[in-house]
Amino acid sequence: MSLPSSHLRPELAALAPYNAGLTVAEVASRPGVSRVAKLGSNENPLGPDPAVRQALEAALQRIAIYPDPVGRTLAAKLAARHGIAADRLVLGNGSEDLLAVLARAILRPGDKVVTLYPSFTLHEDYARLMGAEVIRIGLTPEGGVDVEALVRAVAQPVRLVLFANPMNPAGVWLSPQELGRVLDAVHPEAVTCLDEAYHEYAEGDDYGSGETRLSTHGGPLVILRTFSKAWGLAGLRVGYAMTNSGELKRGLDLARTPFNVNLMAQAAAEAALDHPGSVTVAAALVRRELPRVKAAIEALGLRVLPSKGNFLFFDAARPSVELAEALLDKGVIVKPWKQPGYETWLRVSIGTEADNGQFLAALSGSL
Ligand SMILES: *Cc1c(COP(=O)(O)O)cnc(C)c1O
Repeated sequence: MSLPSSHLRPELAALAPYNAGLTVAEVASRPGVSRVAKLGSNENPLGPDPAVRQALEAALQRIAIYPDPVGRTLAAKLAARHGIAADRLVLGNGSEDLLAVLARAILRPGDKVVTLYPSFTLHEDYARLMGAEVIRIGLTPEGGVDVEALVRAVAQPVRLVLFANPMNPAGVWLSPQELGRVLDAVHPEAVTCLDEAYHEYAEGDDYGSGETRLSTHGGPLVILRTFSKAWGLAGLRVGYAMTNSGELKRGLDLARTPFNVNLMAQAAAEAALDHPGSVTVAAALVRRELPRVKAAIEALGLRVLPSKGNFLFFDAARPSVELAEALLDKGVIVKPWKQPGYETWLRVSIGTEADNGQFLAALSGSL
């Protein structure tokens, strides 16, 4: 028996490299760039609470030993914060780790996965890696979540319903009523995973988090949250899953690597949770700056979608990759979208006032 010519699984051939964007160092070395505004990855420009630094210094004493494989202290703090049992929580090396773990735990070749489009690409990639088929529900012509199409799709016998709310990159979101309709329509045997990476920015009466449904939803439900966005810990990689299903909790634990959240990350997240005021400050910055940036982009004649995240998605009406390149020459990192139908759209994070000003000046000078 001979092996196929490539050692790679055929599922990998269909995947594109993750569109991670450039680092500050890469852009700072460009001629003429004196200041870099890193607005491509939705990080919190204010960083975490200062207590995190102290916790990391203390944790340095312990780096010769393995971390707690289940993060007992962190899980207990999260359980208390959310009013759920610690044995319904799974920690991840970022929530993207949990997306991969969930896919490994439940998806079989040929399974169907429903997601919203344009999508957070990892929602699709890990599904395809497992041999599953991705069903995309696009936006309405007005640029909103197509709740009707989503309700129809999730009622089918699919394995997994997985989408971000607010959506990334689109920024649009489901209201509590809309989310309720979708969850009520989900096929009884499907797993639902709501990726709430931007929850801390979106919180409010018109935003529907799945958290309140953990105690009432009939089917298996997973809610993903992360310390990478509003909590300001993207470099340390910590996310978590909350679930109403003991079976899924067991499956996720079996499918993850045993020490997936490192010791420094656990210490930082614990300290961050003890000092949540920095999240309020980060959310207030976005609430102040996002409407200003949105109005300024619109004033240039471009279409911008509403957003409850710390970012905006806009149609530049020209190839996004070329515009992003022109912005790089002015020290501004944004994310040009590349998925079919959105090749003229870009996603820009809300940064500090200075970052946002630099972006708006660069944009108006590049059109
Ligand atoms: C940023 C982001 C994540 C990734 O978060 P990590 O916890 O850093 O892995 C997950 N989902 C969505 C929708 C995101 O935008």
